[in-house]
Amino acid sequence: MRASEVGARVLSGDRRAVARAISMVEDGSTDLPRLSEELYPRTGRAQTVGLTGAPGVGKSSLAEQLVRAARARDRTVAVLAIDPTSPFTGGALLGDRLRMQAHATDPGVFIRSMATRGHLGGMALAAPEALRILDASGKDLIIVETVGVGQAEVEVATATDSTLVVVQPGWGDAVQASKAGILEIADVFVVNKADREGADDAVRDLRNMLRMGPKGEWEPPIVRTSTLTGDGIDELWEAVEKHRDFGERSGELARRRRSRTLEEVQSMVAFRLGRRAAALLRGERDGGEGLADDLAARRIDPYRAAEILLSEVMAPDGAATSPAGETDA
Ligand code: GDP
Repeated sequence: MRASEVGARVLSGDRRAVARAISMVEDGSTDLPRLSEELYPRTGRAQTVGLTGAPGVGKSSLAEQLVRAARARDRTVAVLAIDPTSPFTGGALLGDRLRMQAHATDPGVFIRSMATRGHLGGMALAAPEALRILDASGKDLIIVETVGVGQAEVEVATATDSTLVVVQPGWGDAVQASKAGILEIADVFVVNKADREGADDAVRDLRNMLRMGPKGEWEPPIVRTSTLTGDGIDELWEAVEKHRDFGERSGELARRRRSRTLEEVQSMVAFRLGRRAAALLRGERDGGEGLADDLAARRIDPYRAAEILLSEVMAPDGAATSPAGETDA
């Protein structure tokens, strides 16, 4: 499949093309700007849901249950498992997991894990691109699952229409979530492993912590689930639907999507300018040589150095005008 065919094939829902396009994102392919231009007008239809929480709380088990719930309601679904820590998972993360095998032959389900191999903008920029590819391919629901609760994961999980924060019963799990700063980002809380002791305590802890936090128009519900028994999965589905309805009625969804896109463009620009400035400072490109030495010898001050760099970076042949922006380092 030629790179120029990928876009049209993604739009027709071709699974191989979708897989290829996501690999292009992982690699930071120079064909991405063209692909993006082709797909972007056909995005915005899919509902996106982010699952985040500490490792082992049951995010991937929940993702699988949500896939089942979606299929039972005749919705097509994609799962994107994000692994920002390892550049080498290469599709193994979810593919190897037995519980997802049940969906391997279902054409209404697409499952893929993702790392960033060559995409220099990191996962925060790569994940939204991958989401749009899945969206353009026609999937009704896209679930993004992250491996942990680091900054990158939080960014990815919040780059969705509804963010689900998962905790499990156990000493201080809600407190840990609070410390990790993920209470604020939750649209829905999931207390998973509710078949275990302590689920009520976890719910109570969460309620207490929520009471102390700021009140919004939307009060995040707390849903108890067990992926072992299947208890609570329908309630979780309902909670996500409710949040989606709220978003549509209140205008919050449109606002959230709009500001997300603006932030994305802004970080794209900041990232590319920053990278070019760094290259200039290190003397890897014309224009910045000597600046580092001048700074070290105190011949110029940091403000002046920044001004010189900015004027170089903004020069007409700069990275800001190069087509891909990922290959000019
Ligand atoms: P993740 O790391 O957050 O994706 O968590 P996993 O979905 O891989 O689950 C971690 C472990 O918890 C696995 O051994 C699961 O079988 C187990 N687990 C997941 N959900 C439940 C649940 O509802 N109840 C119980 N008892 N165990 C669960």
